[in-house]
Amino acid sequence: LVSCVPSCNCVCPLGPTLLFVKTSQGKEEGRRFYACSACRDRKDCNFFQWEDEKVSETRLAAREEYNRNHQPPFTHRQNVERYKNFVLLPLSKRRFCQECQQLLLPAEWEKHSDHQFLCDISAAQLKSPSQLLYPLENKKTNAQYLFADRSCQFLLDLITDLGFRRVLSVGTPRLHETIQSKASQEKDFRVRSLLLDIDFRYSQFYTEDEFCHYNMFNHYFFGGETARETCRKFLCQDNGERVIMVTDPPFGGLVGALASSFKKLMAMWKETEKEGHNNQEMPMFWIFPYFFESRILEFFPRFSMMDYQVDYDNHALYKHGKTGRRQSPVRIFTNLTPSMIVLPVEEGYRFCAICQRYVSSGNQHCDICNSCTSKDGRRWKHCVLCKKCVKPSWFHCNNCNCCALQNHTCEKTYTGCFVCGKAGHKRSTCPSLSRT
Ligand code: SAH
Ligand code: ZN
Ligand code: ZN
Ligand code: ZN
Ligand code: ZN
Repeated sequence: LVSCVPSCNCVCPLGPTLLFVKTSQGKEEGRRFYACSACRDRKDCNFFQWEDEKVSETRLAAREEYNRNHQPPFTHRQNVERYKNFVLLPLSKRRFCQECQQLLLPAEWEKHSDHQFLCDISAAQLKSPSQLLYPLENKKTNAQYLFADRSCQFLLDLITDLGFRRVLSVGTPRLHETIQSKASQEKDFRVRSLLLDIDFRYSQFYTEDEFCHYNMFNHYFFGGETARETCRKFLCQDNGERVIMVTDPPFGGLVGALASSFKKLMAMWKETEKEGHNNQEMPMFWIFPYFFESRILEFFPRFSMMDYQVDYDNHALYKHGKTGRRQSPVRIFTNLTPSMIVLPVEEGYRFCAICQRYVSSGNQHCDICNSCTSKDGRRWKHCVLCKKCVKPSWFHCNNCNCCALQNHTCEKTYTGCFVCGKAGHKRSTCPSLSRT
């Protein structure tokens, strides 16, 4: 990724593209090209254009046509109308087509007659669309990992305990729906949420004040100025107070592009902020794996990583097992003061008075580093030669002059990944990269 400034001339169905660079082995300068901000795989979005390439009129026309053809069948407005009609139907006439992932009105049954569908869609089902819709599975870009109840409840309790009243849910449909249903059921629950997500299926269940079709890699509002204004108003209500943004982006995502969009959302909040809190940032929870810590801190130096392990429903690896837990690598990064983020003691978290934050039970305070150094929840050990704490499975290797797994292969010249500098993977599989 070269530039996080989306190109307004090169637009694919997911909005303005970003500028990337293709480097070939040994060459310093690579060739630059525009490609889809969100799709890593050319199969999913085939937009490709060299930066210096002249594009013919015919190709531009074809591109426009392609973009037009890749629009969803209904607009958000139309979907809102359809929903109104849908809820008027008796239970026996409420169908959901599983193939088209669409609520069906009786007049449309015919067209979907050879599709699988669900019947008797209840009010409760309509209130939890993340259970009704199947999670998108595109491995690299669009994989949807839904919060386990435990984690979703924890987040919501944390948000309310901290006194927030509005949540900008960016790529967190399950958190959004939890807030929405609670608000509709409990009279004195005053939290509201606005969902920003690229998954347009959600427009079937939410009004234009509850959901904006949004691409968080290029800060693109598909609904144009009106949608952007909905978001701005939401952030700036009540003088911008008591609002927090919560985001859980796809992990294959480009941190730089995400950070650039999040800064724009923060700037939106700042815009109409009238008085006071001049130097403040909009409060944010960015949920992401711990191994991206240094990348996130590059863009948001004021952020810190919390030890809380976020668990998911449909992710075999990141699930909290019944017996003993599997460790999830996913954490909360935040610009709030760490001591304010109270982690559940009954799940083994404890408060470290020196670090002034809650840490995992296994995370021991290291007197030499003067911090609770574990990143993964296991007890780490201090290496005097490396002058830092390392994973329990690592040993100091005099050949490499650093700590590594016992059975690693020493490489005198090895300097870790060419791109991020970390050990454990090569440039071609660096998690912080897309096609470069
Ligand atoms: N744990 C969250 C879901 C996270 S999965 C929850 O339970 O609520 C990632 C989410 O980000 C999905 O909802 C997905 O649709 C959305 N997403 C993926 N790519 C996106 C993009 N480019 N812009 C906006 N949202 C995106
Ligand atoms: Zn269908
Ligand atoms: Zn400590
Ligand atoms: Zn240490
Ligand atoms: Zn060492």
